[in-house]
Amino acid sequence: MSSLGRFFSKSYNIAINIKKMLQIYNTLTGKIEPLSPIKKDKINLFVCGPTVYDFSHIGHARTYVAFDMLVNYLKHLKFNVFYLQNITDIDDKIIQRAKEKNINPKELARQFEKEHMNDMQALQVNSVKKYARATDHIKEIISQVERLLKKGFAYQTTDGIYYDVSKFKEYGKLSGRTVEGAEDGTSRIDEGVEKKNKADFCLWKLSQDKKEIGWASPWGKGRPGWHIEDTAITEKYFGAQYDIHGGARDLIFPHHEAEISQMEAISGKSPLVKYWMHTGFLTINGQKMSKSLGNFTTIRDFLKETSPKALRMFIFSSHYRSPIDLKDASITEAVNNIEKLQDLILKLKQVKTSQGIFSTEIEGFKQGFWNALEDDFNTPKAKASLFELVSLVNEKINKKTLTQTQAKGILEFLKEINKIFLFLDFKQTKKESEIPEEVKKLAQQREEYRQNKDWAKADETRQKIELLGFEVEDTPKGQKITKK
Ligand SMILES: [Zn+2]
Repeated sequence: MSSLGRFFSKSYNIAINIKKMLQIYNTLTGKIEPLSPIKKDKINLFVCGPTVYDFSHIGHARTYVAFDMLVNYLKHLKFNVFYLQNITDIDDKIIQRAKEKNINPKELARQFEKEHMNDMQALQVNSVKKYARATDHIKEIISQVERLLKKGFAYQTTDGIYYDVSKFKEYGKLSGRTVEGAEDGTSRIDEGVEKKNKADFCLWKLSQDKKEIGWASPWGKGRPGWHIEDTAITEKYFGAQYDIHGGARDLIFPHHEAEISQMEAISGKSPLVKYWMHTGFLTINGQKMSKSLGNFTTIRDFLKETSPKALRMFIFSSHYRSPIDLKDASITEAVNNIEKLQDLILKLKQVKTSQGIFSTEIEGFKQGFWNALEDDFNTPKAKASLFELVSLVNEKINKKTLTQTQAKGILEFLKEINKIFLFLDFKQTKKESEIPEEVKKLAQQREEYRQNKDWAKADETRQKIELLGFEVEDTPKGQKITKK
């Protein structure tokens, strides 16, 4: 490196070492704010976990992968993060499904909890420090209900204990609903006929008969309402106030509004949560995912055709707050983008050039990437910088103007971003990269369809393989895949 280059490099490093403040959008204030935790560098973060009565779907994957990336990023910024999630292992849906299957609710819940954990592992979601089951916190839940009754925020009816939303002056501050304007909760458990206000919700539901699942309480055998489990769990691990609460948009009302009402009434402290973060919806080919439309996709079915890395790249490609639409083309694009990066990694490892000048452009794109993340975790903007960098570096490699030092620097940068997003493989060799994981998976799927004589599906899968730029040929020895 020339002395001038060294000078620029040094001053640039000083410039990029000035840690700028991370800004995030807070649903509570409706503003983008600097992230400043309650206790210096410690972040307590809670995200609503799954209700374990069925396989998790790709809408869940979107939320959990987005928060996984965010937590990895917070750790990259040297925050000490405690990421907590609850597991709703008792509720109406679980009881209903268990009845249909003729097994007990606990057995059903444990089975789907295990399946959910397998899915999370497949998606490389490893950042959750503690999963807390509702049924392991009955004591804490009862204590919260008792305190709400004592303070006059709750009342008893013949079927349970309800929260009186009219008693909480700040009701509606997250969702913008009013006591009068708030509709009934979405859960059947909240439909008590003796409720004082439409928006009142159940804290403790008394068991209808002796056989129904329940726990002993001062009011009789029963089970917790949905909203109270979250605050009981967060109070135990974080106390009355904490830094970030996340979840999908549809949980803002009534669920998150109820959490605020409960905990702030109990503690008298406000706010319960400093920053509320919500992820956008996921649609499939422009339609809401639902069983009746036949487009309901579980994570495991989705991963039969798509690699977890491609799903992570797809999620990275949109802003976490934006709605995202899943279609074949968006997955193809994600696969191609991974290919571009993998291809670059292999090329960077080959660079041997020692002469060259320092590139402010390269440093500029790297810095652009980090700046975008500081701006409300703007991953699509970061992605734009990343691929501008890829084009520039490819051009420099072709012209042999990229030095080995620069190549090493770019590899380090890619490794650093991969600790956050986990969509790259640094061990991949040239031979392996010739046929992407996606294509191999699809070919395997196609073989299964062929064996089951499902020719339509087999042909559809062949077309998907072609969209990825590969051809499949059936030979006596099996399928032969070649690049088009
Ligand atoms: Zn929740």
